Parts: sequence; C-alpha cells; structure tokens
Amino acid sequence: MRQSLQAVRGMMDILPDEVEKWRFIEERARNLFRRFGYREIRTPLLEATELFARSIGEATDIVEKEMYTFYDAKGRSISLRPEATASIIRAFIQHQLHTTGDRKFFLLGPMFRHERPQKGRYRQFHQIDVEAFGIQDPMLDAELMFMARSFLDEIGVKEVSLEVNTLGCSVCRPGFRTVLQDYLNANVDHLCPDCVRRIPKNPLRCFDCKVPQCKEALAEAPLLINFLCQKCLSHFESVKSYLEQLSVPYVVNPRMVRGLDYYVRTAFEIVTTHLGAQNAVGGGGRYDGLMKDLGGPDLPGIGFALGIERIMLLMSGYQPSRENDVDVYLVLLGDSARRKGFQIAQELRKKGLSVEMDYDPKSVKSQMRSADRVGATVSVIIGDNELEQSIAQVRFMKEGIQRIYELSDMAAELVDIIKGAK
Ligand code: AMP
Repeated sequence: MRQSLQAVRGMMDILPDEVEKWRFIEERARNLFRRFGYREIRTPLLEATELFARSIGEATDIVEKEMYTFYDAKGRSISLRPEATASIIRAFIQHQLHTTGDRKFFLLGPMFRHERPQKGRYRQFHQIDVEAFGIQDPMLDAELMFMARSFLDEIGVKEVSLEVNTLGCSVCRPGFRTVLQDYLNANVDHLCPDCVRRIPKNPLRCFDCKVPQCKEALAEAPLLINFLCQKCLSHFESVKSYLEQLSVPYVVNPRMVRGLDYYVRTAFEIVTTHLGAQNAVGGGGRYDGLMKDLGGPDLPGIGFALGIERIMLLMSGYQPSRENDVDVYLVLLGDSARRKGFQIAQELRKKGLSVEMDYDPKSVKSQMRSADRVGATVSVIIGDNELEQSIAQVRFMKEGIQRIYELSDMAAELVDIIKGAK
C-alpha cells in the first residue's frame, strides 16, 4: 500500500470543529479593533525577500535562518511572509495611504517561519497584527497595550502578563551598544558560539539567549534603560503613567529585546507561564524611522502581533455557538419525491434556513437516523403519497411531534417557526 500523504511538517489543518473557535477569535478582534479606529488590510503571502531583509534586519534569526525563500521563474528572490509589519508598511507606501487619512490597520492571517516545530511553535502559524502610523505620542503606545489586553480579556485568555521595556533610539542606543560590546568581549569565554557571533552585529540579542551559561554571563551586563537619552526617558515615563491611568498591570523587564531589529523606544511582550518554552503570546513596539528606511514618508509607527495558535491554547470558557446546526432535514422516498425535495431544499435555503438531505436514495429509517445525527430541528418527510396530496409530514425532532403541512405554504411556516424559536 502506498504511504498516505501528510500535511507539511509544522503546518496544521484547522478542522471544521475548530474553525468556529477561530472565527470567534477573528470576529472579536475585528469588532474590538474597529472600536479603536483600526481598519482591516490584507496583503499577499509572498513578498520580495529584500523587503524583509531591509526591515526585520539581515542579522536576525528570522532573516538568517527561518524564512521560506525561493527564486521565481524570472530568478527573483521571494519569501513567504514571516510577519506582517513590513508588508503593511510596503502597502502603505505603495498606495500612498498617507494621503487618505488612513493610519490604523490590522491584519489577520498566516505567517511562515522555518523553526523547529513543537507545542505552540509551528512553521505556518497565524497572527493578529495591528499597526498605526504617524502618531508619536506615548498615549498611543499605552492604548495599544490596553487594546491587546482588552482583546485577550474579551476572549477569555487570562493569566498573561505584560512586560514593557524601552530600546532607546538612534541617539542613545549606539553608545549603549559599545558599552555592551565591551562587556561581552570581556566575558567572551562564557558565551555560546551564537552569542559570540552576535557581538559585532547584534549584541542586544545576547539578552535573549536561552543558554544558561550565557544567562549567567549576562547577569551583570549593563542595561539600556540606564543609558537612555532625555527624550527616550520621558517617552518611557509617559507610557508607564498612561498604562497606570488605564489600570493596565505591567512589569518593566529591562532585559527584554525583541527579535526584530527595527524597534525603537517602546517594546512590549505579553507572556504566560502556561506554554512551556513558548512563553510569548504576543509582542510589539515602536519602529519610528522604518517607514522612511523603506522609502516612504518619515512617519513614526507602532504595532503588535498576537499568535492565534497560542491564544487558542490559553482560551478558557469558550462555548461553541450553534450556528451550524441543521434546521431542516429532508427525508425523501422515491424518485419523484427526491426531485421535489431537491427543489424545496433550495427554496428553504434561499429563505435563510440550513437544509440537509441524503443525496443518495436511502431507506426512511436511515434518513431519519441522519437527521438525528446532525441535530436537525425538524425533518420533512415526503414520499409518493404525500406528493400526490401536495403535503409533507413535518416532524419536530426534539418534541417528537409530527404534523401535516401543505407543500404550498410549508416554507413560510417553517421559516416562522424556526426563526421564531432562535
Ligand atoms: P514575533 O513577530 O516573533 O514577535 O511574534 C509575535 C507572536 O506570534 C508571538 O508572540 C507568538 O504568539 C506568535 N508566533 C511567533 N512565531 C510563532 C511560531 N513559529 N508558531 C506559533 N506562533 C508563533
């Protein structure tokens, strides 16, 4: 026997039973973000590789080793998007959206990273991504974190905490980088090869290293929070005070660095202790300067992304809705009744009812069993006798009552009864 085909490793099917939960999350997100003035945007899954190299950064894990990159028929390097910020900025610049007044966006969709799959980490995963351009005020930074928390609250994700940090700016970060590089070079014997490699290009990432020996070596490392310029310091203080005003609980984590190069000032992560090694549910930050670097207007930006799979693992109290229930099951006996039933099905559906039938001819008993199995509200039984008299037997499944209806007004009556009961 041939081996059966499987989904690509790290890429998961979302089966109908789970899709309802996904839609619940997506609809709550759409609804909440709309209240904060965000509009939905959708961008292609494929982009020029250069877009990610220039935005996320050449020396990041994502660009160095996690992207699905290949060459198209014309020899151009393209990649499946590993995150959404770069694509949204690209679209904003390309369509000159700054001229339209649109400045707050969100995107829901799949991202791709070639990481080692494990619980909560996949190669195709889904993000809820939010971005706002052109607003410098720290009020927005705090509001974004408030919005992310409100969203998680609304969908029943508890037991997460918000960590906040500041990553400085082009005024204060370079000076700090040098101080940190000096410290790392002095401790180079205690660092893992990856961290040694990071020293010249991306020393801040050493704070992210999970190797215990590196963690120890960095215990006494200088912290950027102590090297901030006046503007960054005052921005950070304001963010914290707005968070307090909105009663958003947070902790300052001065060792948090985000995996992408473009962040300045505010960086934040929403973490949990319930997902083992994959403790980040979402994260984001400010990236003033990135839009200009990518060839667009000099507008500041800030955003965050939440991972839907991780949210799903943490959600509690979700009750599936019953919207997919079958309203009417047609039980049809004989060719003429089947033909008539086929037409009735379309009429009922047009009137808004959900209708199912056995397309293959089967016994009444077996059709009734199917009606039971799908949880139909009523079954409509039509055989040759009924057809001759232009009637149908309508069985109310839960009540166990059966009534006779004229075919001519059955549709209207069923709609009244079923919709009235909902
Ligand atoms: P990042 O863009 O790396 O900050 O990721 C934002 C969020 O996306 C994370 O906090 C996770 O919830 C989610 N995420 C990132 N990578 C993966 C992955 N490989 N599998 C599942 N979720 C992921």
